[in-house]
Amino acid sequence: MNARIAIIEDEPDIRKLLRDFLEKNGCTVMEAADGKAASALLSDEQFDMVLMDLMLPGISGERLIAELRTHSDTPVIVISARSMTETRIEVLRLGADDYIIKPFDLNEVLVRMEVVLRRSGGSQLPEKLSYAGLTLYPTDNRVTYNDKPVPLTAKEFGLLVLFMEHPQKVYSKANLYESVWNEEYCFEDNTVSVHVSNLRAKLKKATGADLIETVWGIGYRMKGAQ
Ligand code: CA
Repeated sequence: MNARIAIIEDEPDIRKLLRDFLEKNGCTVMEAADGKAASALLSDEQFDMVLMDLMLPGISGERLIAELRTHSDTPVIVISARSMTETRIEVLRLGADDYIIKPFDLNEVLVRMEVVLRRSGGSQLPEKLSYAGLTLYPTDNRVTYNDKPVPLTAKEFGLLVLFMEHPQKVYSKANLYESVWNEEYCFEDNTVSVHVSNLRAKLKKATGADLIETVWGIGYRMKGAQ
């Protein structure tokens, strides 16, 4: 992901964790450790995305988001230990684009960032994705196998976009649910497994091959990917 990211976070360990991870994934990162520094950073610099803690010394994350929204549409993902539903709704209402609760999984952060960036137009999917004879056209909602159409539902299509975009990556059920359904994954249920297994069956019917594999205890990915 080639994006300029601001990390607003007062805990040095979390800041470093996010920074190292995002830099490893190709991002350019700037950071602020308190509300005042954050306010200056956000008014002086342009970013593709802001990762924002809420409880900060000086100026709260809520105020920083409100301030940012007076002059910018830069997507904001709140990363906070507060997990009450009202807080989630409040920050989304304030103009944040998504909300991740601490402690978080780094891969989940990355997946959520990609989804938000894509939605905001900051990160475009390629015109087509290809894998093992399958071709997926993200903007047309269309998948073909050796030029023959493969009919999928919207959710199945959303899942396949993720799998084909990063064939080597293992997606947890929570990753998939939060990206494709765009809702918080609060409890274990079989929604994701049902849709993945329907997708898997349709791909098998179309291609004759089983293209998705279950990585036990972790999640799913494209089969045979390294
Ligand atoms: Ca904090």
